[in-house]
Amino acid sequence: MIPNSPTQRSGSDHALLPDELPLATALFGADGACLFLNADFVSMFGYTRDEIASFSTLMSKAVPDPDLRTTVLEWQERLASVTPPPLPRLAFTARFTCSNGAVRFVAVNIRASNIRMIATFTDTSDVDTSLKSMQGIFHEIAAQVRAQEEQRLVALEQSVILENSCVGISLIVNRVIVWTNSKLEEMFGYTKGELHGRSARIFYPSDEAYLSSGEPIHAAVSQGRQYESELIMARRDGSLFWARYYGKAIDPNNLSTGTIWVFEDISSRKAMEQALTYKTRQLEELNNNLGKRVRQTVDTLRQKESLLLKQTRLLVELAPDAIIVFDVEQGRIIDANAPAERLFGCSKQELFACSPLSFYKSEQPDGNCPEDTFYQHNARVLRGEVLVFERILISRQGVECICEVRLVRMPSEEQLLIRASFIDITERTRNQTELAKTLAALKRNLDEQKQFIGLISHELRTPLAIIDGAAQLLMLTASNDSDCLVQAVRIRSAGRRIVDLVDTCLTEERIATSGWELEFSKTAMHKLVQDVVEKVQSGTGSHAIESDMAAFPPYVTCDPTLIRVMLTNLLDNAIKYSPDGGTIRLKGWGEQTGMVYIQVSDHGIGFPPELSDKLFERFYRVWQIPGIPGAGLGLYLIKRIAELHGGGADASSLPGGGATFTVRIRNAS
Ligand code: ADP
Repeated sequence: MIPNSPTQRSGSDHALLPDELPLATALFGADGACLFLNADFVSMFGYTRDEIASFSTLMSKAVPDPDLRTTVLEWQERLASVTPPPLPRLAFTARFTCSNGAVRFVAVNIRASNIRMIATFTDTSDVDTSLKSMQGIFHEIAAQVRAQEEQRLVALEQSVILENSCVGISLIVNRVIVWTNSKLEEMFGYTKGELHGRSARIFYPSDEAYLSSGEPIHAAVSQGRQYESELIMARRDGSLFWARYYGKAIDPNNLSTGTIWVFEDISSRKAMEQALTYKTRQLEELNNNLGKRVRQTVDTLRQKESLLLKQTRLLVELAPDAIIVFDVEQGRIIDANAPAERLFGCSKQELFACSPLSFYKSEQPDGNCPEDTFYQHNARVLRGEVLVFERILISRQGVECICEVRLVRMPSEEQLLIRASFIDITERTRNQTELAKTLAALKRNLDEQKQFIGLISHELRTPLAIIDGAAQLLMLTASNDSDCLVQAVRIRSAGRRIVDLVDTCLTEERIATSGWELEFSKTAMHKLVQDVVEKVQSGTGSHAIESDMAAFPPYVTCDPTLIRVMLTNLLDNAIKYSPDGGTIRLKGWGEQTGMVYIQVSDHGIGFPPELSDKLFERFYRVWQIPGIPGAGLGLYLIKRIAELHGGGADASSLPGGGATFTVRIRNAS
């Protein structure tokens, strides 16, 4: 239903209550303040709005009836306190004193509404002056009044609803705008009522848009359907905006009754939609690009993969090992390289028909049945183990060879594949056997040599002891014959050198033997050094040996036999390489760390300083001086003995001659 458009306006606070309401009507706020009196009210009671300031002022005009007044004012108070007011209608009759002093008998009808409080008044004074009969008439009249009033109020409420709607609403008859609500006028930028009587073309930005919408609208509304569309529409100032509009005919059978249209401004939604479309398009573009890039990458990867496959294949083909791939489930070889063809003596096609087991000799080096181990090995490799073992193979041509076999599982999800590589080690095995034989022969020789040296040393020591004894006897018996004495001393010295040489050889041999073990004991070092010094001193007349062991610990845990050899060699060398004689100094000292040092210095021929390391090499000799014998083993032994004692040896020589040798050993205690 479209409300009648109000034609008169008398103020913003009562704009919704036209003066031509048929009943005397008053409008009050919830606080009772009078908002509006219509013309009928003014002519009925003669009061102006200023004189009826509030509902209680009006009630004060009623002929005194305290009960009624209390009831009415209570009702009004309840209205003010209840939100929303679910109050029942209040109807009563009362006598009112008019402004000219006349008393009117009036039927009053008050109802609460969302516009607060509407009171209507019907003058029943003329009907009958008798209160009783008037009461009956009043009720009759009141019923009529109520019905009329009800209709009016419904219309009024609907008008309020339409006016206050958040969408634009319009009634259009024959494409002419008959009625619009304020929202629609505001939406299109028109003032109140400005659109009335104008063609609906005014909503469209162009004739074309207007005309093209006519046909589909007509088709829908003439069939009673709702027409709905979204379109760019034009405001009064020519600016455009997106609107959604939908409408229906009031009576599809009689379109001249008009169509009702609802308009919504959807510019912001459209803007969002456009932004979304733009973003979606961007996303699609991005997706496409990404897809393209992924495809390109995949292609490149495929190319690389196939290249890699080719390279791998080439590598496999060129590999020196014979390589096969064995499918465990099928029980046959499914790939092989060229060396495999050569090793097994058949083509790839022939290989693909058989299992590697068919090439295994029935007697294998480990004595196991190859068939049993074959399946065990496969199971272990499939569990992830890498196996390496030896097998004797027999080629199709019956050629035997020993191979090192290496099994590893191939990465495959669909098949159980084992990669086996075979390296022909027949030659290597043969060489190893030969080598073992040679080593055994060598060991035998060495053992014999040792035995021989032991024998020689034993055999030499006895005659040397006899020679030395004889020389000593000669010295005693021929003490007056100086020539004889000199010869006797020479004999003794030569004999001692032979004994030393034999000892050195034996010691070297013992140390070089891997089974050599030191025999440690707590050794009184001062005594040991003194013995060695005395022994060496007795062999020379032209050298003086001075020893200073004050800073050396009295006891050192070491192998005394070897330390004795070491010291003897050091002092012997000092004498040997000081052919002009001189003083030889021996100095010993210890450190908190447990290291002990012995240093022997001479004033002999020395050696080139750059050779100080080489001197300790086995069989190395700096000088081949006639009259200075030697085998190049002494310093080597010295260093080895020091190392066996957790120490080492150093040598230094001064430009003017003379040499200093320092050995250090760890006190094992
Ligand atoms: P050998 O004395 O039997 O030749 P060594 O192993 O004892 O063997 O010594 C190796 C070399 O070191 C000697 O040939 C010699 O040239 C040099 N050498 C050793 N001791 C001295 C020293 N005290 N003075 C000078 N040179 C020495």
